[in-house]
Amino acid sequence: MAYQTINPATGEILKTFQGITDDDVETVLARAQHCFEHEWRNRPVAQRASVLYRAAKQLRERAEEFASYVTLEMGKLIGDARGEVALSADILEYYAERAEHFLRPAPIAGAPGCEIETRPLGVIFGVEPWNFPYYQLARVVGPQLMVGNTVIVKHASNVPRSALAFAELFEGDGIPLGLYSNVFANFDQVARFIDDSRVRGVTVTGSERAGASVAERAGRALKKSVMELGGSDPFIVLEDAPLEPTLDNALWGRMNNTGQSCVAAKRFIVVGKARGEAFIEGLVARMRALKVGDPFDESTRLGPVSSEAAMKHLLDQIAAAKRGGARVLVGGGRVDRPGFYVEATVLTDIDPRNPIYTQELFGPVASCYVVGSEEEAIAVANATPFGLGGSVFTADLARGRRVLDRIESGMGFINHPTWTAPNLPFGGVKNSGYGRELAELGFGEFVNRRLVSISPAGSTAPSVNQGG
Ligand code: NAP
Repeated sequence: MAYQTINPATGEILKTFQGITDDDVETVLARAQHCFEHEWRNRPVAQRASVLYRAAKQLRERAEEFASYVTLEMGKLIGDARGEVALSADILEYYAERAEHFLRPAPIAGAPGCEIETRPLGVIFGVEPWNFPYYQLARVVGPQLMVGNTVIVKHASNVPRSALAFAELFEGDGIPLGLYSNVFANFDQVARFIDDSRVRGVTVTGSERAGASVAERAGRALKKSVMELGGSDPFIVLEDAPLEPTLDNALWGRMNNTGQSCVAAKRFIVVGKARGEAFIEGLVARMRALKVGDPFDESTRLGPVSSEAAMKHLLDQIAAAKRGGARVLVGGGRVDRPGFYVEATVLTDIDPRNPIYTQELFGPVASCYVVGSEEEAIAVANATPFGLGGSVFTADLARGRRVLDRIESGMGFINHPTWTAPNLPFGGVKNSGYGRELAELGFGEFVNRRLVSISPAGSTAPSVNQGG
């Protein structure tokens, strides 16, 4: 695959970037390892923090430039791209501020002289997706750099300019070579990075396909991995949920980032026939009203999807859904204009044999299910291979909690679509992956939680053989 900037709003290829050579793989690894061993892990936490604060400051000062790369390369609405830049800066600052606290040794109750300290592991290798080109990197870099690890990233091939812009944040005076490396690597080179003994951990955000391939490779090399993979989040609407705010949340939950979010609300499951009809009518009206246009135009509400391949895949899924008996209530096709635009689409009448019943729809397509009971809603919600996020909308918080407790997911929300913030742990169960990013949990994924036990000089040996 070529690393290329292609404007999804026009289809125009703007620039092709040179991939790295096999010799570069060795150079990057050697620098990252040298930086870890002789520089970074020995730096006081406050000095590490100053590098992250500086990166966050640059993101804020150059927000317009950073946002424009994302909009140009993957079609995110420009206002949302600015929001992503700000969120990425927030994440870097969050870890810079809290690392000292997260790194504090933890005494062990009932074991005098014993404590658990948190040490870095070494070089961490990341494979990252295009849908939030900076936020996904900040989720990795914030905790890993603050814990004392160094980072190598293979970013998605359709956001190379964004990848380079992020790498620039970790260049300059006082920043050691090898701290953060962006590599335009092919899949064979990715395998070489994973196999190399200097890489101590591997993290992937992307599809099940990429996750399975990288996790298998990492497993063979006995390396810890974190997998942040796909999702098909349920959005359950109980009979008593106030309709208008629930619909506003549904629209945001589905259409944020043109529907290309792992934690987008993808399946709307409404309890009760009358409530179901009203909800679907409201959602169709809102989807129909979205203004299609250039993502750089501030008034646009529906931009292109990220690539021609993404558009074709989504249109194929809609066609297969129709063949399987689904009804298209609005949209369903390509927008008649240049670029990779898919109409805002609402599907209904999706039975369990329909292929999209269990698939992730990564774009502006909402699947709606009207069910007769809470039990049925829970069954539909759990009937996918995924388990990333999920939400329940209701006026009765206790009932909402009971329903939420039965949703198989890594994140659960009541009266809010799944969302993200620096201090909220992020990740899934089932095929959505394992491990967590963000918050303190994200800080703890690639560390050595080392037991240290100090006994007074002359302590007597244990009297029984305690094994181990
Ligand atoms: P993708 O094809 O898996 O791409 C993601 C990254 O993996 C890219 O850098 C890609 O490189 C790389 N990749 C793909 N196959 C690989 C392989 N066999 N070996 C090594 N690297 C490989 O994902 P996508 O379809 O573009 O992105 C959308 C998916 O990501 C959705 O399923 C979405 O739900 C998921 N996602 C999950 C999260 C989360 O936090 N759980 C967040 C965002 C997205 P190339 O670009 O060079 O192909």
